Amino acid sequence: MVNLVFLGPPGAGKGTQSSYIINEYKVVQISTGDILRSAVKEGTELGKMAKKYMDEGKLVPDDVIIGIVRERLKQDDCKNGFILDGFPRTIPQAVSLDAMLKDDLNISLTHIISLEVDDNLIMERLTGRRTCKGCGKVYHIKYNPPKKEGVCDDCGGELYQRDDDKEETIAKRLKVYHEQTSALKDYYKNSGKLYVVDGVGEVGDIYRKIKEILG
Ligand code: ADP
Ligand code: AMP
Repeated sequence: MVNLVFLGPPGAGKGTQSSYIINEYKVVQISTGDILRSAVKEGTELGKMAKKYMDEGKLVPDDVIIGIVRERLKQDDCKNGFILDGFPRTIPQAVSLDAMLKDDLNISLTHIISLEVDDNLIMERLTGRRTCKGCGKVYHIKYNPPKKEGVCDDCGGELYQRDDDKEETIAKRLKVYHEQTSALKDYYKNSGKLYVVDGVGEVGDIYRKIKEILG
C-alpha cells in the first residue's frame, strides 16, 4: 500500500515524480495546487477566492484547503492508495490530516518523502517550467523540453507558464515555504516513515531512489 505525502519546496519535482508513481503503483495523485488551478479556470467561488492568494505566492487559508482534502480523500479511488502533493503545507494542515485519516477513514500514511533541492536551483526550475493546459503534464524548457516547442507530447495541448512561476512570486513562495512548510519535516521526524531524497540529478535516477523506498 502506498499512502504517500510528498514534502519539498515548490519546484522540488514532486509533481514530476508523482506522474511516474501513479503509473506504476496505480495510486491517485491529490495535488491541492492542481485542484485550486482547476477552480480558478472554472471561475468558481473557490477559484476566485484562491486566486488572490496564489497570485501573491501566499498560502490559501488552512480551513479551505483542509475541507478540500477531506472531501477528496473520502472518494472511492483513494482506497487503493494516494499521493498527497502540496499538502500538508502547515502544521495545522498536518494535524488535521492525521485526524481525518484516523477518525474518518481509519487508515494511516505509509511514507513521507521529503524531496530536497536547494533554493538556488529552484528559481531556474520554476522560471523554466511549462505546464500543459490540457492534461497538466509538466515540462522544463531546458531539462525536460517537449518534442515540439509549446506543445504537449502526450495530448497535443498548449503549454503555458503558470502565473505564479514568475521570478517575483517564486521568491515569495520560497519565503512562505521556509516560514511555514519546511517545519513539517520535523513534525514527521518521529513517525518512522520519513525518508529524505536528494531531488537534484536525473529525473529517472531520483525515481529509482523513490522506488527503493516504496518497494
Ligand atoms: P513541484 O511539483 O515540486 O513544484 P515540478 O515537478 O513541477 O515540481 O518540477 C518543477 C520544474 O523542474 C519542472 O519544470 C520540471 O520539469 C523540472 N524538474 C523536475 N525534476 C527535475 C530534475 N530532477 N532535474 C531538473 N529539472 C527537474
Ligand atoms: P503548487 O501547485 O503546489 O505549487 O501550489 C500553488 C499554490 O496553490 C500555492 O502557492 C498556494 O497559494 C496554493 N496551495 C496549494 N496547496 C496548498 C496548501 N496545502 N495550503 C495552502 N495553499 C496551497
